Amino acid sequence: MRLSRYFLPVLKETPADAQIASHRYMLRAGMVRQQAAGIYSWLPLGFKVLKRIEQIVHEEQQRAGHIPMLMPTVQPADLWKESGRYDAYGPEMLRIRDRHERDMLYGPTNEEMITDIFRAHVASYKSLPMTLYHIQWKFRDEIRPRFGVMRGREFYMKDGYNFDLTKEDALHAYNRHMVSYLRTYERMGLTAIPMRADSGPIGGDDTHEFLVLAETGESDVFFDAGVTDLKLGDREVDYDDVAQVKGICDEFTSLYARTDETHDEALYSGIPEDRRRQGKGIEVGQIFYFGTKYSEPMGATVQGPDGKPVPVHMGSHGIGVSRLVGAIIEASHDDKGIIWPEGVTPFHAGIVNMRVGDEACDRAAEALYGTMKTLGMDPLYDDTDERAGAKFATQDLIGLPWRITVGPRGLKNGVVELTNRRTGESEELSPEAALAKLAAAYEGKR
Ligand code: ATP
Ligand code: MG
Repeated sequence: MRLSRYFLPVLKETPADAQIASHRYMLRAGMVRQQAAGIYSWLPLGFKVLKRIEQIVHEEQQRAGHIPMLMPTVQPADLWKESGRYDAYGPEMLRIRDRHERDMLYGPTNEEMITDIFRAHVASYKSLPMTLYHIQWKFRDEIRPRFGVMRGREFYMKDGYNFDLTKEDALHAYNRHMVSYLRTYERMGLTAIPMRADSGPIGGDDTHEFLVLAETGESDVFFDAGVTDLKLGDREVDYDDVAQVKGICDEFTSLYARTDETHDEALYSGIPEDRRRQGKGIEVGQIFYFGTKYSEPMGATVQGPDGKPVPVHMGSHGIGVSRLVGAIIEASHDDKGIIWPEGVTPFHAGIVNMRVGDEACDRAAEALYGTMKTLGMDPLYDDTDERAGAKFATQDLIGLPWRITVGPRGLKNGVVELTNRRTGESEELSPEAALAKLAAAYEGKR
């Protein structure tokens, strides 16, 4: 993309009402625009990151054997009356009446609807196990929307639902979700710690939240410092291997890590003192096992092996896709702007032409731009006639991991400058060597 033809409305001033770094930088970098409290338009740069995160979520869900689909945002109230949650959900639910006076709502989550789909189409235990998921906009009329997209009213969420014959099978589905989530967050450059949590209005016996440590997080967390060293890395996972998947979950949940809702002071004080940690975290996902809580009242049964109908065991599993954009920035920024991890960056590199109009500079920058595209990379080429200082400030603000600077002095020696946004280190290299280094940095991350 050429910056001269892009829509990147960066702001010079720091917006007064944005309290935390991610919100400030998302506004300043022209990623989002607030349209009403907790409701945002995703401008081109923000939209790119959102789609990149969505793509990673899709890939990891499908790797785990989960099936993508799409349910609508607007739902009939009747389904929620069946489960009993129409009254229980309270003022967070946006209730709508259509022209025929029918009660509708903008979905805050989809347990009822997916259960309805399941009961209509699945009759036998032979179709199980099955996990369906979608990534769709949700609406919750939060009492205090704040921190930009981190606590919106309209937000983008992946929600998946497993259907299993037995509790044991459903717990394997739970574990599969835990492992696929760990991989999802790692690919985004995040450390998200699974913490035992409280089930809240969805209800259930088993639940973990995934928390990214950040001072601006809204949850209080207590943990053994050892959990922050755990990494899934690139180990091979066979999602059908019940023992392997459980083993990974045990590894990630055996050390103490809880939110304030389930915090146990006695257990916590059993951790060696030098490893006890307290802090704040951002919830970027949650998994639940809730058994037959919905299948029973809504009649989602299958014919079991003995021919008798049995209600299915279910769980639901969510990832805050739009919240993640903010959470990644909270975890990765400095005083100049965002620092995107390679896995989610909106563009792979910025190309800054220091002297637009200079024949040598234009030729070298155009050549780099063309070659990168041929190599399947997505560069942002600053071909505007802004001054160099302003170009660098924009690059730092929008946080692309790499910048290639093309200037007349370097070109005399046949070199361009390759700068790493995170370390600030620059190297003078031939254009070919700079491209080779970029390609290596993105190996396995695209
Ligand atoms: P919270 O405790 O933060 O209100 P929740 O536990 O009610 O969230 P879930 O029902 O578990 O949320 O939804 C799954 C994920 O969706 C959450 O882990 C979070 O990342 C994201 N999410 C929930 N509410 C919001 C919101 N208002 N804005 C943005 N993302 C949200
Ligand atoms: Mg939650």
